[in-house]
Formats: sequence, structure tokens, C-alpha cells
Amino acid sequence: MVTIGTQPGDWEAALGVTEGRGNIRCAVGVHPNHCHEVEFAEIARLKEYAGLPAVAAVGEMGLDYHHTFASRELQAKYFVAQLEIAREAKLPVVIHCREAVTDCLGILRGFPSVRAVFHCFTGTMDEARRIWDCGYLTGFTGVLTFRNGESLREIAAAAPAGQILVETDAPYLTPEPMRKQKTNEPAFVVHTAAVLAGVRKISLAQVDELTTKNAMGFYRW
Ligand SMILES: [Zn+2]
Repeated sequence: MVTIGTQPGDWEAALGVTEGRGNIRCAVGVHPNHCHEVEFAEIARLKEYAGLPAVAAVGEMGLDYHHTFASRELQAKYFVAQLEIAREAKLPVVIHCREAVTDCLGILRGFPSVRAVFHCFTGTMDEARRIWDCGYLTGFTGVLTFRNGESLREIAAAAPAGQILVETDAPYLTPEPMRKQKTNEPAFVVHTAAVLAGVRKISLAQVDELTTKNAMGFYRW
């Protein structure tokens, strides 16, 4: 599993979760919805984190044009600065992208050596294809299990096998049938994996094998 620190105040906590647990690593970064609250100089500290064995990726980073808590320009500035660190450290990146696929791909084009996963993908089939065509992965969350998740299930069925991950986005997006419980937790990812198995007409064990292999390759674990 990879846990995420989305702002400087979370980085040590994310790292703490990995301690003594060989099956957990972390990603640290500045989420686009936090960059207006984070001093730009903080980004440079990610270089030290990037050298730690427990840090598997840099992120979340990216663009969020749905919320726009920070201006688009500021989001892009923080995104590029983090991509530079990831490129230098040869680490993959976890992308948060909402209603901004064209601009995210445009910025990523400047960093061809950086591997990326578009986490919690909830866009259109056309957007998914553009992401896959660039070689990037898409991460599927509990949204895949929602009653209104039909178009996302079609996308998950069409995804190239090597470009799929499953994730929780915990504490958000609790998958069915646990949604009543509200607070999501890592164990519930099995429900997302089960739906993925159904749409791809493979077994849950095969989804386990596939997503483990994809994660190992992506994170060079
Ligand atoms: Zn996100």
C-alpha cells in the first residue's frame, strides 16, 4: 500500500505509517488544493524526502479546476516544481487532476521520463484514452462501485491491463456495500477490486495479481 501526505504537515505522519511495515510506503507532495496555504520554499524539502527508501512517489500534485482554491497559475507553479524533484529523484508521481486533463498532460509533456498515475480517475473515456496513450496509469476508487458509476465501469473495462491501479482515497469515497459506514479505510479496496474483476470478466485473485504487478512496476518496489 501507498499512503499519502498531501501537505507539509502530513509528510511526517505519512512516513510514520510506513515505519516497521514493509508492505507500506508513502508519497509526499503538495496537493493543488493546498498550494495557496503552503510556502513555495517548502517544496524544496521534498528533495530530502525523495531520498528516503520509504518514499515511493511524489504527490499528490496536479491541477484542480473544479475547486480552484488556489489560482490555476499557482497550481501550475507548484506542479512543475514537484515534477522537477521527481525527475531528479527518478520517482513516479501521483497526479490529482480534476477537470484539467488537457493542462495536466500539457505540463507532463515537459517531463517525459517521469512515470505518473492519475489517481481517483473519474473523467471521460476520451480523457482516459489520452492518459493511457501517454503511458500513464489510472487509479480507480470506490466510485467504480457506485450505482451511478456505469460510465466509469465501462472505462475500467476498456483500460489496458498494465495501466490499472486500485485505491481507496480513504477517508473518502467508501465503496459499496460499505458506503453506509461513511468513513473509508484501506481494507475496503477489496470491494473496488471485486467490481473491477466483474467488469473485466476476470477473478478477484487475478485483479489482485494484476494490480500488485502494476504497482510494483510503477513504484519500482
Ligand atoms: Zn486527489
